[in-house]
Amino acid sequence: MDAVTQVGKVEEADRKVNAFIVYDRDRVSDKGRREEGPLSGLKVAVKSNICVDGLLCTCASKTLENYISPYDATAVERLKKGSATIIGMTNMDEYACGSSGETSFYGPTQNPAAMGHIPGGSSSGSAAAVAAGFVDCALGTDTGGSIRNPASHCGIVGYKPTYGVVSRYGLIDLAMSLDQVGPLAKDVKTATRLLETIAGHDVRDETSLALDKEFYKFAENLNPDLNKVKIGYAKEFDGLISDEGIKKIIHQALDKLSGAGAEIVDVSLPNLGIAIPTYYLNVYVEFFSGTRKYDGRRYGHKIEDVCGEEVLRRILLGSYISQKEYSGKFYKKALQARSLIRRDLSNALKGVNVLVGPTVPKLPHKLGMKIDDPRVMYAYDIFTVVANLAGIPAGVVPAGKVGGIPTGLQVMGDVLCDQKVLNVMAGFEGC
Ligand code: GLN
Repeated sequence: MDAVTQVGKVEEADRKVNAFIVYDRDRVSDKGRREEGPLSGLKVAVKSNICVDGLLCTCASKTLENYISPYDATAVERLKKGSATIIGMTNMDEYACGSSGETSFYGPTQNPAAMGHIPGGSSSGSAAAVAAGFVDCALGTDTGGSIRNPASHCGIVGYKPTYGVVSRYGLIDLAMSLDQVGPLAKDVKTATRLLETIAGHDVRDETSLALDKEFYKFAENLNPDLNKVKIGYAKEFDGLISDEGIKKIIHQALDKLSGAGAEIVDVSLPNLGIAIPTYYLNVYVEFFSGTRKYDGRRYGHKIEDVCGEEVLRRILLGSYISQKEYSGKFYKKALQARSLIRRDLSNALKGVNVLVGPTVPKLPHKLGMKIDDPRVMYAYDIFTVVANLAGIPAGVVPAGKVGGIPTGLQVMGDVLCDQKVLNVMAGFEGC
């Protein structure tokens, strides 16, 4: 089937899901694409905050409703070199601010694995496109869980690399010290292939790491053997999971891992309770500063004139706490708290290969349910934000279902231990 027909089929089926904002019918994304490569034959979707030359890149906001990317993001350039077929640009929470996929200017996305529920966010459309079988894999971005949270809710695999392993060039920031581009896919192997294609040093991103070639051979080095692998489980997790069904599944996952030869070790993350405020204070300040360029002169509309409630909240709070006279009160404290969390994770990871735990504390709510208190939405992020605050790698594998709704096991590793995380993900997938 040629690419145009493939796109047409997805477009038809997506009427029920709303996973895409743009379908590349005119094959604009074939520009610069190689004929043959490691991703030949794979259909890929790209989140609407990652630039694809010639396609609309809206961040699901009215602010950028007419913004056409003038170039390819590095991750996209590498997808094209790998010969992937880009189907289109996916729906998301506006400017990646959210955990449900409901804040998009283009309307909410359905969860194909649990119709009537949110797919999670902010990479809602990327996760839904994979879960619905529209594409083989997708690019998402993760600032505080936006790849892992929807992967968990949609019953698929999602992976956030160590900060700096994938270039952020061509990504529209939410918070640049936390953002990473990463893969979503049906299985660990496909996610690993996609990661391997997009990872690597990039001179155009100052935070990109230049590592040994061997480091990036994720697919070749994928080893699912769990025998004698030491896996930490933090004692604080159980008290923070609010859904009993999720707790049960996570403990069954621990049993499966130890049944496959892994050794489960008790560890502690004493500052997990302050992870959410720490994360949001960091995000507000960075997001506020990043959005100052949307003043209506160069890009689209002035953001404050047209954005949704959550984006506006972050801009206003970011502006407030960025004022010089408050800097000691909020932002400095948030940076200190970030160091504490980083230290906790590094201590917990000292005697073990990886940590495992829940991805989300609760199941996805029903689409359309009104949530007035932002803290109820932010509560989804408790287990995912710590990996971004510490810059460590973290991935999610489907672990089971609670009343028909999927939930995923999260695996976290120390900085640059991406291979160890992927190996345990592959091992658990085979359990
Ligand atoms: N839910 C978090 C937020 O709203 C994470 C978003 C993300 O990772 N892009 O900020």
